[in-house]
Amino acid sequence: MDYKVDLRDVKFQLFEWLPTAKLLEAEKFADWDLENIEMVLDEAVKIAQQQMAACNEDGDRIGAQWNDGVVTLPESFHTAYQTVTEGGWIGLLANPEYGGMGLPEIIGTAVNEFFNGSNVAFSLTLMLTRGVGHMIEGFGTEEQKRLFVEKVLAGQWAGTMCLTEAQAGSDVGASKTKAVKNDDGSYQITGEKIFITGGDHDLTENIIHLVLARTPDAPVGTRGLSLFIIPKIKVNADGSLGESNDVYCNNIEEKMGIHGSPTCTLVFGQNDNCRGFLLGEEGHGMKLMFHMMNAARIDVGLQGCAAAGAAHQQALAYAHERLQSRSWKEMQNPEAPQVPIVEHPDVRRMLLSSKAYTEAMRAILLQTSYYLDMHHLLEGEESEKYKSYVELLTPICKAWCSEWGVQVTHWCLQVHGGYGYTSDYPAEQYMRDAEIACIYEGTNGIQALDFVARKLPMNGGKPIREILGAAEKTFQRAKSDSELMEPAWMLAAALKQIETISKELTKRPDAIQMVLLNAPPLLDMVGTVVGAHLLLDQAMLAKTKLAAILEEKGIGTQDKKAYKEFLTGHAEAAFYHNKVQTAIHFCYRALPTVAAKGAAIRSGERSPFFAIM
Ligand SMILES: Cc1cc2nc3c(=O)[nH]c(=O)nc-3n(C[C@H](O)[C@H](O)[C@H](O)COP(=O)(O)OP(=O)(O)OC[C@H]3O[C@@H](n4cnc5c(N)ncnc54)[C@H](O)[C@@H]3O)c2cc1C
Repeated sequence: MDYKVDLRDVKFQLFEWLPTAKLLEAEKFADWDLENIEMVLDEAVKIAQQQMAACNEDGDRIGAQWNDGVVTLPESFHTAYQTVTEGGWIGLLANPEYGGMGLPEIIGTAVNEFFNGSNVAFSLTLMLTRGVGHMIEGFGTEEQKRLFVEKVLAGQWAGTMCLTEAQAGSDVGASKTKAVKNDDGSYQITGEKIFITGGDHDLTENIIHLVLARTPDAPVGTRGLSLFIIPKIKVNADGSLGESNDVYCNNIEEKMGIHGSPTCTLVFGQNDNCRGFLLGEEGHGMKLMFHMMNAARIDVGLQGCAAAGAAHQQALAYAHERLQSRSWKEMQNPEAPQVPIVEHPDVRRMLLSSKAYTEAMRAILLQTSYYLDMHHLLEGEESEKYKSYVELLTPICKAWCSEWGVQVTHWCLQVHGGYGYTSDYPAEQYMRDAEIACIYEGTNGIQALDFVARKLPMNGGKPIREILGAAEKTFQRAKSDSELMEPAWMLAAALKQIETISKELTKRPDAIQMVLLNAPPLLDMVGTVVGAHLLLDQAMLAKTKLAAILEEKGIGTQDKKAYKEFLTGHAEAAFYHNKVQTAIHFCYRALPTVAAKGAAIRSGERSPFFAIM
């Protein structure tokens, strides 16, 4: 399977739009400059194309296999894993002290788009392994760090996060897995976790599970949960491997997509011989796990963006190749030849919508990652400000990007007609693989509840006011541009809609029911407004860059035919021109949905409460 990504857009967003160059001036990134960062990006795309995309079909068709408690992955996954670990890609963001590359989050996000887009099932292992390494580095004892961090971040040992149990899905606090303290300070673990990504496989000699479990007499709910490091194979004091730690994989799920990622049921301690090691303090499990989950939520949103980007590139190539029907300009001429389907208006609309949503997702994810870098780099109030932006935007990254990621894969499949539904093309796999991002790491419904109930009122509503205030400033700047004026006013109308709704909703006597009922559309409305604001901001920059090229080349835009011919032969000018068209398209097509959703909410309709189900 081929993998293509719009690297030009990634580089535009990173180096022309966002202040990545300024970020690199920080002492922490002294080893990095724009030139070697570009090399990292180019190399990551090469690995995504040559290694990960090369085994994406094997992952889907052969998939993970379970045999008598042992899970195996296709041979091609092993080859790719070796290349990825040898290149140090799991430690992309990790501290150089532990062998990491120490790159900024924003670059990690860009690289992980390539990895997720080329093979999401494979990349899940990288994501979880990285997450476990960072958790032990951040919260482990010196001994735990010594034993685990370097090996995990090098990918010699893989990692998992184990929250879910049969009765404890969204309701994590209902977990029953038990942890009883031994005399030597370790814990005896018994219980069963389900749906564990990468719970068992043969890519690595050991797997380090981070498991939420309950100590005896702990309070009910999430407050009673503690977090444990539980290796699949026991680790001796000198770091060598010992005997099995009594962690048994008794099943993997048959599922819709990501077949190359084993989704495992893990039984801990069926022979009373499973030892776990407390990470942090007793009762702090959920608090710690949120660190891993918040990072993973941005990564899962990235899966939506990555699937959308890959599906769009592939659909675009197909639309140029596939000949079907006459041009709409020659509808009356039965003798006219068939044309590439990219000439049909409906296909063009689907392709431009796919591109627009992909670029909006990329903008939201990269900007959030930039805020995360700023939070890490700065101190005091400024650091807290950026932290609050990340917290506010995390559910939008996760839910908005995964939801629209699936929609984009749907449009891209549709571009293929019947061939899209067959396994001759990757369109159907992109769609099947993308759906899970709406479900795991907290379903999108739960993300929306977190957004409306916790993130919007956070700090007296300051972070949301500031983010929407930035959108208002974008409107103010764009409204004086003749081409962007109308889209800018649409942004202003959508902002007004959000302001009106938040005022009205809080005054209603049934405010709680209305907010619970409408959390997902409310999240979608804000996500759409933020997406439009960022794309318009990019469009204004693109217009300046395009104007400079046109001036240098002495090209005018009045003669439409000559201008179009110029764009066809000048990739850079065409790129900037398309950025502007993409932003306009997004504003016209996406922003009116904010008013439509707003109208539905403001009507006060509550039938789901009254319908008999
Ligand atoms: C392929 C795959 C990989 C996974 N990987 C992992 C992993 O590595 N580690 C791990 O721990 N888990 C993992 N999971 C589990 C995943 O995180 C859960 O499936 C998810 O959190 C939802 O839990 P559930 O399936 O029990 O659904 P439920 O919690 O039963 O939810 C069902 C529906 O009810 C809704 N709902 C539930 N509670 C509320 C509420 N209070 N208000 C409104 N709506 C509500 C949900 O939004 C959803 O629509 C994975 C799952 C899958 C399918």
